[in-house]
Amino acid sequence: MSQATTEIRLTLPDGSVRVVPAGTTALQIAEGIGPRLAKAAVVARVDGELVDLATPLRGDSRLALLTDRDPEALHVLRHSTAHATAQAVQELFPGTKIGQGPVIENGFYYDFDRDEPFSDSDLEAIETRVAEIIERDLTIEREELPRDEAVRFFEKEDEPYKIYFATTKGGETVSIYRQGAWTDFCLGPHVPSTGRLAAFKLLSVAGAYWLGDEKNKMLQRIYGTAFFSKKELKKHLALLEEARKRDHRKLGKELRLFSFHPEAPASPFFHPNGAAVVNRLVDFVRELYGSYGYKEVLTPQIFDASLWKRSGHYEHYRDNMFFTEVDGREYAVKPMNCPSHCLMFGEGRHSYRDLPVRLADFGRLHRYELSGATAGLTRVRSFAQDDAHIFCTPDQVSDEVAGVTRMILECYGLFGFEVKIVLSTRPEDRAGDDATWDRAESDLRAALESLGHDYEVAEGDGAFYGPKIDFYVKDALGREHQLGTCQLDYVLPERFELRYIDADDKERRPVMIHRAMLGSLERFFGILIEHTGGAFPFWLAPEQVRVLLDRRPPRGLRRSGARTTPGGRPAGRSRYPEHQGQREDPRGPTGQNPRNAGHRRPRAGRRNRRRASPRVRRPRRRERRRFHRGGEKMDRRLQSAALIRRVGTFEERPTCPS
Ligand SMILES: [Zn+2]
Ligand SMILES: [Zn+2]
Repeated sequence: MSQATTEIRLTLPDGSVRVVPAGTTALQIAEGIGPRLAKAAVVARVDGELVDLATPLRGDSRLALLTDRDPEALHVLRHSTAHATAQAVQELFPGTKIGQGPVIENGFYYDFDRDEPFSDSDLEAIETRVAEIIERDLTIEREELPRDEAVRFFEKEDEPYKIYFATTKGGETVSIYRQGAWTDFCLGPHVPSTGRLAAFKLLSVAGAYWLGDEKNKMLQRIYGTAFFSKKELKKHLALLEEARKRDHRKLGKELRLFSFHPEAPASPFFHPNGAAVVNRLVDFVRELYGSYGYKEVLTPQIFDASLWKRSGHYEHYRDNMFFTEVDGREYAVKPMNCPSHCLMFGEGRHSYRDLPVRLADFGRLHRYELSGATAGLTRVRSFAQDDAHIFCTPDQVSDEVAGVTRMILECYGLFGFEVKIVLSTRPEDRAGDDATWDRAESDLRAALESLGHDYEVAEGDGAFYGPKIDFYVKDALGREHQLGTCQLDYVLPERFELRYIDADDKERRPVMIHRAMLGSLERFFGILIEHTGGAFPFWLAPEQVRVLLDRRPPRGLRRSGARTTPGGRPAGRSRYPEHQGQREDPRGPTGQNPRNAGHRRPRAGRRNRRRASPRVRRPRRRERRRFHRGGEKMDRRLQSAALIRRVGTFEERPTCPS
């Protein structure tokens, strides 16, 4: 009998089972359930894998129909929009070759090989053409070809980049997607037709090396984004606009916080304003260290290569390090503090009673980053961390991790960040035995549970030397950043042969905990600038108070043409009689009764008495209200004036619990 009579069982998410002939498509199932679902369905998930709605189902499986409410469906929508963009480009600019076009966070890009870069007006034309392609409502079809045939197909189309993908990414059979006359090598899935694409926007063009390798040709990358509704798109674009306004590179220049110079690539120079903020951050962290029992140390900048060989950095981290040779010896600038702290701990004999030892270090670190990867303060070659290493007994791990977590939460709470904690467990490729890993992971869990804070688990994401906890914060624009980390390490104490004498007089290896709270201070500063829009909390503001002098002559003298000092005072007199130790001549500077001379003397009422101190313009009511609602919204120029009024009441930075 033919295959059509074979029946398959499809289990839907609600647990119901549908028995249908093999070869039925997910779309047909959706139609069977209801026309509304058939219209709303974007893509199907079969046994956990996303497939096109038009894919014939061949065997018993779990089937879910995803609609626009599903984040995975948004991913598919964006990929299909990327295809429509590539089709538009090839229609408008024949001869342009297509590279790759993946979905990225918040959108997509597509790479094109074209000698001339796309201009802004090109981008507009492409956008119009994409809208036309959506209007055409082309069916998006998947086709599977043997690899050789697919390669021949793309050779005929003269698409070298697609040949590369067909040979490297495809298996024996290669899938291609067609919409109208346009074809792309693609693993899919896609929305059923271009008419399903909705709200989109092409955002920018940038040069990008083919496969990210600077030895390859530079392609033109078009960035875009897409949503299921115009409203969501509008919201996202407003957020992008806000992010552009808050870009720390832009604000850093405007507020004279930092600058970069080609003489020290990707290494920030902090100006007095920026240095003031960074130093206050360090002071704050130091204060926390006092209450959480850390001891600060200072360590060298340059070490003999033998240290890095011993720590394993020479072997595994070499490409990110700066080397130098002096007196025929090879030296390296430190990219991390850990090895020097191991040297310090390894110096004397430690009793179990001396542990834990918590060593903190603000030492400057240098890491080589590819110039293409560096950006503002977020990725630099020279930076300092609020770094620390804890050496403790295995029994102390849980308490130490709980302490680290408590300190980190206290610190982030101050900046108003929403915190997410992720516990990463043993990876496939790891050092040490399973018993140690079992214990380490349960210690971390116990620590987190003792604090009652929710956490996620990322199975297999731990470092090769131990499990870790990462701390993520959400900034004012809803973007997530990883800041803190707390990692257990059983390998480095081994490499440095660290030991302590336990209660039973036996030598044992301590556990080493690497932990950072704000992480790189440079990067944190960048995040903080964008989080606050440059209006730092009072305690961090480089300029907390500014005294503004009213340089105009006193009210009554303004129109008199009276001679005034550059400060606006009548010549030869202090504006404030008490400064002269005498009352001002009520007749005014001219010796004439001012009332008779046609100008009014300053009123000596309550108002003026109160102003017998440098005058500050009281912010207008609207400005005050804006400031109360959220400091960051206030125009920076008004800050100082408004802050003066707030000095007494502004919530001071809380001191650490002792
Ligand atoms: Zn694709
Ligand atoms: Zn470390």
